[in-house]
Amino acid sequence: SVRVRIAPSPTGSLHIGTARTAVFNWLFARAQGGQFILRIEDTDLERSKPEHTENIMSGLKWLGLDWDEEPVYQTQRTGLYRPKIQQLLDQGLAYRAYDTPEELTVMREQQQARKQAPRYDNRHRNLTPEQIAAFEAEGRQAVIRFKIDDDRVISWTDMVRGKVTWKGSDLGGDMVIARATDPQEIGAPLYNFVVVVDDADMKISHVIRGEDHIGNTPKQILLYEALGETVPEFGHTPLILNERGAKLSKRDGVTSISDFQEKGYTAEGISNYMTLLGWSPVEGMEEIFSLEEAGKVFSFDRVNKAGAKFDWDKLNWINSQYLHAMPVGELTDKLVPYWQAAGYTFDALADRPWLEQITTVIGPSLATLPECVEMTRYLFVPEIEFTEEALSHLKKDGVIPALQAVLERLPDGAVDEDGAKAIISDVVKAQGVKKGLVMKSLRAGLTHSLKGPDLMQSILLLTQKGWAKQRLTKAIA
Ligand code: GLU
Repeated sequence: SVRVRIAPSPTGSLHIGTARTAVFNWLFARAQGGQFILRIEDTDLERSKPEHTENIMSGLKWLGLDWDEEPVYQTQRTGLYRPKIQQLLDQGLAYRAYDTPEELTVMREQQQARKQAPRYDNRHRNLTPEQIAAFEAEGRQAVIRFKIDDDRVISWTDMVRGKVTWKGSDLGGDMVIARATDPQEIGAPLYNFVVVVDDADMKISHVIRGEDHIGNTPKQILLYEALGETVPEFGHTPLILNERGAKLSKRDGVTSISDFQEKGYTAEGISNYMTLLGWSPVEGMEEIFSLEEAGKVFSFDRVNKAGAKFDWDKLNWINSQYLHAMPVGELTDKLVPYWQAAGYTFDALADRPWLEQITTVIGPSLATLPECVEMTRYLFVPEIEFTEEALSHLKKDGVIPALQAVLERLPDGAVDEDGAKAIISDVVKAQGVKKGLVMKSLRAGLTHSLKGPDLMQSILLLTQKGWAKQRLTKAIA
């Protein structure tokens, strides 16, 4: 049966790349009727923090990526690794290497001088008992290295990239699988080894992870074989790139799912967009879909090999589709905190029908939630500034008289749409001006800007709060 996992290290907040890999794992598990498992790789005790684990878990949940079993923590499994290393030592597949850091540096410098790629030259692979005794007498520490023969050819059929082949000679020589320690002991096991033991123990059938791990896969395949375990399938998902085609980084403004939450994106919009970062929907499928919908049809045949460029316009468009589809009440609930944070303490915040009316008016033009703050300023803040464009419009011929004429006809209370239309056509007739001029002038007079939400609706909203007259009076003065 299909069992996949996401294996984040809790050394920071849930990263967009990790989240996207989680999305592909989750979709594959759903499509195959398999299990999606979370493993927290918390063995780096200095950099791993419980708050990062918390952030990763809540981020995955927020996105809708629920895991199917209790999460696994590597720190609770340390007993698993050393016996396996001992097994490799006993079988002669691994050995202790006593090189000092200085000796390794000299080796690298010599390789560099000869323009060779840096690699361990396997110099301690066949030490005699006398050499070992001498090194130990010197008090040297030892790492444990796993033998990688240069003439090995390792290949696998990658779910994304097809057939991938590596030569043993490109893997950097015998690899360290446990850190340096006293030679009687086994030091802390390292990433490539631990991952293999865990994935085998957890019966992971498909290892789906970012392309940045592709160079680890041949080493891990050799370890599976040495440990007598079944080699899983591998799929390496394309990286997320910025506009310049480089790996997305902090400098691009967002790296973590929390950043997107803070920017007010919807979880559905983000997970939809992350799926499209690399996967193409099947024939006849819209670009807007839920994880559940994608999970019914997801397959790796439709995942691109090439890196996926992160496109803000596309994300905003997708997010706007979710905002537009949201029921007014729900969208209002999401907007209120932004209005509150903006300091809009005006008692209108208690006027629910009025707020929902605003949401109805601005909803169709919202791409992200925080935009509501600027868009509705003229509805919440009594004294607002004129924009340059509005000011220069007010100076045009016929504008002030038209606004004057509207002001004279405006009742003190709220007007409805028919009432507003009647006033406007009356003013058009009385002043002998074009309707377009009256409308544009009203926008400038009432909202003090030439751009913004629907004008007719704005008139209704402002007259309800008794602000229309006050604004027009200020515009005319
Ligand atoms: N902890 C590793 C990472 O976050 C896991 C990689 C893997 O999936 O094997 O990059």
